[in-house]
Amino acid sequence: MPRVYNFSAGPAMLPTEVLEASAKALLDYQGKGFGIAECSHRGKEFDGVVDEAIARCKTLLGVGDSHDVLFLQGGATQLFTTIAMQFTAGKTVDYVTTGEWGKKAAGAAKEVGAKVNIAATSETTNFDRTPAVADWKLTPDAGYLHVCSNETVHGHRLADLPTHDNLIVDASSEFMSRPHPMERIALLYGGAQKNLGPSGLVLAVVRKDLYARIPEKGLPKLFSFKAQAENKSMINTPPTFSIYILLEVFRWLERQGGLAKVEQVNAAKAKMIYDAVDNSGGYYVGTIFDKAQRSHMNVTFKLPSEEKTDLFVKEAAKLGMVALKGYRTVGGIRASIYNAMPTEGCAALAKFMGEFKARNP
Ligand SMILES: *Cc1c(COP(=O)(O)O)cnc(C)c1O
Repeated sequence: MPRVYNFSAGPAMLPTEVLEASAKALLDYQGKGFGIAECSHRGKEFDGVVDEAIARCKTLLGVGDSHDVLFLQGGATQLFTTIAMQFTAGKTVDYVTTGEWGKKAAGAAKEVGAKVNIAATSETTNFDRTPAVADWKLTPDAGYLHVCSNETVHGHRLADLPTHDNLIVDASSEFMSRPHPMERIALLYGGAQKNLGPSGLVLAVVRKDLYARIPEKGLPKLFSFKAQAENKSMINTPPTFSIYILLEVFRWLERQGGLAKVEQVNAAKAKMIYDAVDNSGGYYVGTIFDKAQRSHMNVTFKLPSEEKTDLFVKEAAKLGMVALKGYRTVGGIRASIYNAMPTEGCAALAKFMGEFKARNP
């Protein structure tokens, strides 16, 4: 069966090599007669997987002893909830809500009783941009500043992260799509299902000094990042097979040449589709206010009508390009082109865009 070009926003495409290696390990792990999902998380096989995954993650991110690498459960949504439960230090915390995900993270923080200041938002323009950092209304001495570095639904990103003593970054939909400036990040986290692996698993890279803020009473141990770090993310049974797939993704990323190389490839991939938008004489219209903020992962644009949009999605699917329909609040097309999307997939979409326009003026 040939694999299609799958533009799903998440769960999303994974590299074929990763799937093949993972499928093999699922059936039989290193000739042991059992698969990697069939052995104890306390045994030496899985312990080796976790150790290697932590080490490779740190190498890819270029981060040393200052941060811990955690493999947590419950998705990014559970994470941004438990983050607000343990790292506010009792202070006001700043959130930038420039998309659905930033807004949901701020909402979750309010739900658990955090004092939330919305430092910047673009809700009145349907989240089509990030206001200039100079215009953010930051709280002096805030507990932390939370940003979503790539807004998956709308298709824009923070090309440069702001400087802040305690910066928390939801990087779900661009995790390891480019280097992350870890020396400026207190906590980097993301659901695996966009760019790194299967859903349910969250990768969190946390600066250890944050642990001092964890309240002594009221926070269940299961949610404590410190307790998880002390237990190598195994307070209870972790999602072992998902972590194995993540390890294969890390190995694959290293074979690609690391994150700086991956970033170049991703920029070139995104450019192909944005060029097809910008050179269409206004037939395709980008949805992001400022071109410099366009996402390299989730490319969003509109066609002249709903009918043409539906036809575009249908015809593309027939040609093996699936899951192009935009998010319901945005409409239009969203092409998610994470690390695993080959350059050929972006070239095929760009070519199709030209042909479609010619056939449907
Ligand atoms: C998908 C996504 C989430 C939510 O992930 P879940 O694992 O479904 O909770 C959070 N933030 C961003 C930026 C996302 O793209």
